Amino acid sequence: MTATISPTPANQAISRIHTDLFIGGDWTPAASGARFTVENPATGVPLAEVADADADDARRALQTAAAHQADWAATSPRFRSEILYRAYQLIMDRADEIAAVMTAEMGKPLADARGEVAYGAEFFRWFAEEAVRIDGDHTVTGDGNNRIVVSKQPVGPCILITPWNFPLAMGTRKIGPAVAAGCTMVFKPAELTPLTALLLTEILAEAGLPDGVLNVVTTTDPAAVVGEWMGSGQARKVSFTGSTEVGKILLGQAAATVMRTSMELGGNAPFIVCADADVDRAVDGLLVAKMRNMGQACTAANRIFVHRSVIDEFTEKLTGRMRALVVGDGADDDTQVGPLVEAKAVDKVATLVADALDRGAGATCGGARPDGPGHFYPPTVLTDVDPDADLMHTEIFGPVAAIIPFGSASEEGVDEVIALANNTPWGLVGYAYTRDIDTADLLSTRLEVGMVGINTGLVSNPAAPFGGVKQSGLGREGGRLGIEEFLDVKYVSRPIPKR
Ligand code: ADP
Repeated sequence: MTATISPTPANQAISRIHTDLFIGGDWTPAASGARFTVENPATGVPLAEVADADADDARRALQTAAAHQADWAATSPRFRSEILYRAYQLIMDRADEIAAVMTAEMGKPLADARGEVAYGAEFFRWFAEEAVRIDGDHTVTGDGNNRIVVSKQPVGPCILITPWNFPLAMGTRKIGPAVAAGCTMVFKPAELTPLTALLLTEILAEAGLPDGVLNVVTTTDPAAVVGEWMGSGQARKVSFTGSTEVGKILLGQAAATVMRTSMELGGNAPFIVCADADVDRAVDGLLVAKMRNMGQACTAANRIFVHRSVIDEFTEKLTGRMRALVVGDGADDDTQVGPLVEAKAVDKVATLVADALDRGAGATCGGARPDGPGHFYPPTVLTDVDPDADLMHTEIFGPVAAIIPFGSASEEGVDEVIALANNTPWGLVGYAYTRDIDTADLLSTRLEVGMVGINTGLVSNPAAPFGGVKQSGLGREGGRLGIEEFLDVKYVSRPIPKR
């Protein structure tokens, strides 16, 4: 079954997407026949009706993945590598079409969506290269009597769960290493953005991924579907990107069967502008760290600590740039800031801003939600934010820059700002702008985060190990470590014959 929709350019691409479940290489409706509607967040217009799976469908999908695990694990690394490389090329060939679908269902401007297509595809190219480099170890016991042969094997069937904010890249970042390692999968994309994931599924099938390796289940009842998988005992690993709240539920469920887990959870990123920073560069960096995806990223700068000696210049320049941003439907070429993903997201941002203003913050731009259709919130700069304001302790997930002063005319305040930055249960990423190499070193060492951007507002890269500490998660995605999350170590002991 395919979608029925009105004929606009993005919708032509959507009308060709399969909207059923993908199990064992077949597109099949949910057994109950249920479907749910995917909407465009800029307009509220329905885009497609997608299969709405329940626990029975989920069971069928995982049984299929489990049944194909042994054959898939026995394929050659080169075979798996070439599938990923072909999929990388197909994604790049169809970049405009994928970007249009992503913008329609999620709202990000087309230029950002094209950026995500390149970023997301790169995970497949990276893991195509990693598939043929899975290493091991070979040594001898201290007494010289035994060989120690260490090799790596796929962990087994994996549960992959992705959020809506990067509908392509969060999928490729998990599917890429799972394919490279030889794991079969059940994949549940976010209910707000299933279309990009379904398009990706078609591309993988076209690239030659054997039937049953990837099984895709869309649903409005993630607790039922994922709960079925977590409790089945058939899956050996869960890789999740989403909220810390749901991550904790999954960690609890994983304990029952001692399942391997990778958790990319929430963040509360500090963005630090030191007294000696290049202010123009810091403003450029903040626009990326804050405004990428309209602030809807776990890496988004949430708390902006600016030294008092540069705070006026920084605030003025930032306000000018934020005011100039063009807000609109992401499908319009000149749009720089699209809508938030749903009405609930706008409510949350508006509530956080109102709380900060009540506690004495000022707004140099934005700060009020507009009327009209679509889930829009304007670029907003808040100054003198109270450290107790709710948005200091909550992921804003919106285009709101909250500025907090630190230091004084006589104090660089590095220790002070590190203490402020670390005062959170999260620890995903921190950004810092300074021209001093020792300050950069100190901040890199002492910030309690998994990733640090020094004089840059972007750390995500397929070649780098993405992940956090504290309640931001467990494990790493991408880089050399990414594939290890999908591999178990096996050690074989063999006596050495005496000559
Ligand atoms: P967000 O706030 O970014 O939407 P969520 O953690 O709610 O983050 O969602 C991320 C992913 O987790 C989505 O695919 C969603 O369907 C899924 N999810 C939500 N609730 C549960 C749950 N109870 N069990 C498993 N997955 C869930």
